[in-house]
Amino acid sequence: MLILMEPAATIRQTGEVLALSERVNLRPYLSQAQGRRVIALTSEDEALAEQVRALPGVEEVRPLHDGAKLSTRQFQSRDSVVVVGGNAGSKRVSVTRGSMVVMAGPCAVEDRETLLECARFVCDAGAQVLRGGAFKPRTSPYAFQGLGVRGLELLAEARAATQLPFVTEVLSIDDLPLVAEFADALQIGARNMQNFPLLRAAGETGRPILLKRGMMATLDELLLAAEYVLATGNPSVILCERGIRTFEHSTRNTLDVAAVPVLRRRSHLPVIVDPSHAAGDRELVGPLALAGVAAGADGLLIEVHPDPDRARTDAEQTLSLPQFAALMPRIRSVHKALHSGEGAMEALAGA
Ligand code: PEP
Ligand code: MN
Repeated sequence: MLILMEPAATIRQTGEVLALSERVNLRPYLSQAQGRRVIALTSEDEALAEQVRALPGVEEVRPLHDGAKLSTRQFQSRDSVVVVGGNAGSKRVSVTRGSMVVMAGPCAVEDRETLLECARFVCDAGAQVLRGGAFKPRTSPYAFQGLGVRGLELLAEARAATQLPFVTEVLSIDDLPLVAEFADALQIGARNMQNFPLLRAAGETGRPILLKRGMMATLDELLLAAEYVLATGNPSVILCERGIRTFEHSTRNTLDVAAVPVLRRRSHLPVIVDPSHAAGDRELVGPLALAGVAAGADGLLIEVHPDPDRARTDAEQTLSLPQFAALMPRIRSVHKALHSGEGAMEALAGA
């Protein structure tokens, strides 16, 4: 249930609601929406709702049933700011409405020289976060599975060289303590979007979570997956549209551009677009990246490699360094066009 306090409710009155929830062993989640305090409780017990309604300062108690709670605008009207980095010598980067945080790097970490060259290049071109997989989810068990711990060490070295924080995928609960120790943000990949125990455990590390949309997942399912992380008390979730499976085979996946304004309307969480996995073809990455920016994305996740044809994973969709450098100013100009003028974004988003 969602408990809306009166705008003039006192801290003491809010405290009464929190105390009641603790008495019935429910963890209360406190937020602000439309100028009032809001408390979410993960129960729809009608007797409890009646008890809450009777407390002074409570304006309304709304049932929420099985739908998203903590990720919604009803729970929090202000846009979330997810901070990535700021430890281990890396820069602090904020992903939020109006930002354009480009996260770039190879699909997989392959070797020291390639990663360092790529990291330095994307940094100079204006990327703010380094990406690279150390544990790779591969369709075939015989394909390159990533360098594992060695990959994490190399990412940490690239971070030290560039001050870029890095995001890397975590595939299993067993790897979580290790990956969380190294990484600035944890990527939950499309294939694991509904791995609920992993979502919970990843949330509990307190690290920011980059949550990719499953290739057959609806936006409701994506938001409910985010809910698993938020329910642990970790507020730092970045949603990522990376294309979904459709009947169209000209691209690897179909980029659902509409996901960006829809998620923005329903949720306060930042939304980024991954044009690389949507396109599956490096010639299409630029147009899809720009479409994502124009739709109002807060950042992009792009695969880049110094010798893309020889990349060990996702070669076809990986940009070369010059291609990435040429794309960055175009990303900036579309972003600037969208945000120039007071209220430009709101007018476009209809929000
Ligand atoms: C990746 O980012 O390299 C990746 C495997 O992405 P996805 O989970 O979206 O397929
Ligand atoms: Mn990839």
